[in-house]
Amino acid sequence: MAAIALRNVVKKYGKGKQELQVIHGVNAEIAKGEFIVIVGPSGCGKSTLLRMVAGLEEISGGEISIGDRVVNNVEPADRDIAMVFQNYALYPHMSVFENMAYGLKIRKVPVDEIKTRVDKAAKILELSHLLDRKPRQLSGGQRQRVAMGRAIVRQPQVFLFDEPLSNLDAKLRAQTRLEIQKLHRELGITSLFVTHDQVEAMTLAQRMLVMNAGNMEQFGTPEEVYHTPATTFVASFIGSPP
Ligand code: ADP
Ligand code: MG
Repeated sequence: MAAIALRNVVKKYGKGKQELQVIHGVNAEIAKGEFIVIVGPSGCGKSTLLRMVAGLEEISGGEISIGDRVVNNVEPADRDIAMVFQNYALYPHMSVFENMAYGLKIRKVPVDEIKTRVDKAAKILELSHLLDRKPRQLSGGQRQRVAMGRAIVRQPQVFLFDEPLSNLDAKLRAQTRLEIQKLHRELGITSLFVTHDQVEAMTLAQRMLVMNAGNMEQFGTPEEVYHTPATTFVASFIGSPP
């Protein structure tokens, strides 16, 4: 069984004359534990596709499954996913521990369980010595790791990342990329990672889903996409310098 299945997924924005179709029937099956990168130029529909998996955007046609459930009509909070955004706003008045615990607290997870999960995530992310600090006492990289910690403690079936690295400087971007790879090695959670950066996609992906203008142009390993591009778009997009 696929961890995530997209079946002829369509998205239209607007109504009547204003209607605009931005996703034209995407099909893909993602296996449990895979790290998938959705890559393509700005405006091609990456965020829209991801937001439909998250349930933040209604789907206009087709079907999305997570695990054995069709989730078209399932609320975001019930989809067993966690999303890491580009803007990782932490609560400034809360400590690192409280920031990581908050999502569990509002879901009424027992206090002991919260502590166990936060401690485990902090260990993986090398935040154990910083749990009492406030966000303003942290470096940019540490803050980014707290944001990831908030997603990890939820123990979701699926991680969704929407360009989480694009606001970071080059050094921090490289560092966070390694962090994400380490996380995936240790936890093996099925991940969808969106980026417009070909190099980032080639480095991170087990398989990459290349998009252009709302169409899936190719879905394959970085080697396949690089050596046997399915379309001229893929050849020029992947072959062109970043
Ligand atoms: P990407 O993430 O690849 O840059 P998006 O998914 O954000 O692309 O956008 C895909 C297309 O859908 C773009 O043409 C964009 O202008 C349009 N779009 C995105 N969100 C909305 C919206 N809420 N209403 C109308 N059009 C939208
Ligand atoms: Mg986007």
